[in-house]
Parts: sequence; C-alpha cells; structure tokens
Amino acid sequence: MNFYSLNKKAPKVSFKEAVIKGLAPDKGLYFPEKIKSLAKDFFNHIEYFSNKEIAFEVIKQFVSDEIPEKELKKIIKETLNFDFPVVFLEENIATLELFHGPTMAFKDVGARFMARCLDYFNKSKSRKKVTVLVATSGDTGGAVASGFLGVKGVDVVILYPSGKVSDVQEKQLTTLGKNITALEVNGTFDDCQAMVKTAFLDTDIISNKNLTSANSINVARWLPQMFYFFFAYKQLKNKHKDLIFSIPSGNFGNICAGMMAQKLGLPIKHFIASTNVNDVVPNYLKTGKYNPKPSKQTISNAMDVGDPSNFVRILEIYNHNDNELKKHLSSYSFTDDETRKAIKLIKDKSNYVADPHGAVGYLGLKKYLSENSNNDSQGIFLETAHPVKFLDVVEPVINQTIKLPKQIEKVIKKKKIAISISNYEQLKKFLLKM
Ligand SMILES: *Cc1c(COP(=O)(O)O)cnc(C)c1O
Repeated sequence: MNFYSLNKKAPKVSFKEAVIKGLAPDKGLYFPEKIKSLAKDFFNHIEYFSNKEIAFEVIKQFVSDEIPEKELKKIIKETLNFDFPVVFLEENIATLELFHGPTMAFKDVGARFMARCLDYFNKSKSRKKVTVLVATSGDTGGAVASGFLGVKGVDVVILYPSGKVSDVQEKQLTTLGKNITALEVNGTFDDCQAMVKTAFLDTDIISNKNLTSANSINVARWLPQMFYFFFAYKQLKNKHKDLIFSIPSGNFGNICAGMMAQKLGLPIKHFIASTNVNDVVPNYLKTGKYNPKPSKQTISNAMDVGDPSNFVRILEIYNHNDNELKKHLSSYSFTDDETRKAIKLIKDKSNYVADPHGAVGYLGLKKYLSENSNNDSQGIFLETAHPVKFLDVVEPVINQTIKLPKQIEKVIKKKKIAISISNYEQLKKFLLKM
C-alpha cells in the first residue's frame, strides 16, 4: 500500500516512509492510495473477534508487509491494553469511553501505536535518530510523552502554551524525563504550532536532524483511531439501529478516522462534528467557504484549533463533493456556557460526569437528533478524555469533587521540569544542540 500527498507534488511513499516523514516534502498530508472494504462476513461475525483481532483486520491493508504479521500483532496488543466501553445514558444516547488508557484521553491509542511502529522501523535498520517534534494544546503532549517514553532512537520535544493547559495535562507532559523534553512556550497554541511548522521547513535543522511529527497528520497516529469505531459497533450491533456518531472535534483527526472506518464498510449512518466556538467547519458546511481563523481559548482546550489540519483528508474521502459530504456530516458549534450547562444536565439526568469535550459531543448529538428524530437511531458521543483532566472546569459545575484515578495520582505528585522559550530562535538553538 502506498500513500500519496494531498498536495500532489511529492512522490508516493510506503507506510514506513509516511510514518517516518510525517508530512510529505510538499507539505501535503499523506493519504492511502486504495481503501479496500472489509468482508461482509467480518461484520456479520464481529462479536466473535477480540478487539485485537478486529484491529489487525482493520489496519493490515494500510501497513501491508512493511511490518511482519507477528510484529504488527504485538504492536496492536501493546497498544490496546485497556477497555473501550459503550455506556448508555438516555434513550438513544450512549457514550463511547475512550479514556481508559495511561493518559486518560483517546490520543493514547494513536500515540502508542505510532511509537511502536517507529520503534520497529528503527530496529530493522540502523537509521539516524528520529526527533519527534510536537505542539500541544493539552492532550497530545501527554499521550505522546507516555507513548514514546523509553523508545530507543527517538527523542521527543513537546511545545505547550504556558498557563493554557490544565494542571493534570501539564504534569503528564513535564514529569517523565528520559527521552522526553517539554518546552513551555510564552504564547498561545497557535504560536507553538507555528514554531513547529517553521522548524519543519528550516534547512539548518532538517539537514541535521530527522524530524517527524506526532500530530494526527501522521498516518500511524491517525489510522489506528479507526479501531474504536469498530469496537463500538461490536457492542451495539445487536440493537439493529442506525449508528450516529458525534465526535468532539479540533484537528478533525478522530472524526476523519471514523469516516475511514465507514469507507471500510462499517455501517455508520451519520457523523456529527461537534466543536466549541472554533467553528471553521460548521461555517464551511453552512457557507461553502473554508475560512481559517486564529484559535480562541475555551474550556474544551484540546479543540481550540482555528485551521483543522485533517479537514483536507475529509474532503478527499468524499471526493471533494460537498453534497456527498453533507449527506454524511453535520457540524455544530457550542459556547463554553452551553458546555457547562450540558455537563450539569448530564450529571443531573444520568448521574454521569462528562468532561468538557464529551459535553460538546453530547450537545451536537442532541441537536442533530432533535432535528432528525428517528426511533431507529442510536446516538453515540465520544468521551475523548476523563473529566479529571479538567478538574477546574468540571468540579465547580457539578459541585462535587472527582476522585483521582491511579494514573493521575501517580503523576500529580511528580515535579514539573520544563524549559521556557519565547521565540523561534530559542527553539532552533535548542534543537540544534540536542
Ligand atoms: C485532541 C482532542 C480532541 C480533538 O480531537 P481531533 O482529532 O483533533 O479532532 C477532542 N477531545 C480531546 C479530549 C482531545 O484530547
């Protein structure tokens, strides 16, 4: 299986090269050349497959023979060492909990898978050391730090905006040490992202270092996110209802993976991209115009993205046909006030504590179902992070303290170690002397 650049000005590459490069030399995102539907029989008998077996079926055409079957199965086994339960809340509304991994956000799946692929590719040949450079608005940093910790031949450098991530998130990315370095940027997430982009274009750096990204632009982080849409189907299949997924979206990698799952034949009726006030995509569906904007800070900070990088992949999946896209996708935006009210409502109604991102997903689902009501629909919103990661937002709203899970208790006591930087020159200097 080869991958082409969506900018169409770079050579096709193998899975391995796509993973190592991250972004194509023409700055385009990589996209698989072919997408083969899975056998009917697989869907008919999915309940007899373990999650690991399902994941193998789903990913194998994309990895092809670049990782031998036995190794790929091992990578999947190590990636998926936690559960993905569907929890029913209201009539026709359930949530798919994606937060049972080590950093309690869905990004653990992609980060763990990608780290292990890079590890394998590093072992098979004596390659130059790889430096993973990543900007985070909150959750990416922790998941990447945890996923890559101790992986040989890989150094990880994480940029995060000072004072704009939650305490738990900050601890998760600044306390691990070893091959992980956190750079605390005096600026916004957009500043962090801009610095990372500049570094990827800086010949002084790329002639010296093997830089790669661990954002969802990397195919090894993006594609494994298909897995849990299948896991949800496995749990919901016997209800014989139309599945409608609402995905709290920022960079649109997660929802784009769901759309790939649909391409593989997974019976998903409709997608809802639920966003905070960073509403580029809801506006696109309304006006047909894609207008990127600087991101605005919200209480669902992992979705504070003003120019979602994966949206071009979504357009590619639906052949740049807006009518086709609208058949499969609705998108709504919600304010922080609405999000807080939703957290309260879910708690009062279902005695369930949602995090701000999940609450945005809930709102999108409710809105869609109210406009397209149908007894044959089963709505599922993704709970993309555990509420404990957003204590300062959630606790006052539900007026209750949240018990720290053991993953978090461990990390919260550790000492933060970060290097402060305020401009690109400082980042460059740091990278060059690493
Ligand atoms: C990253 C993240 C999102 C957004 O996911 P995208 O794939 O960027 O759309 C939503 N919720 C949480 C908790 C996240 O960490």
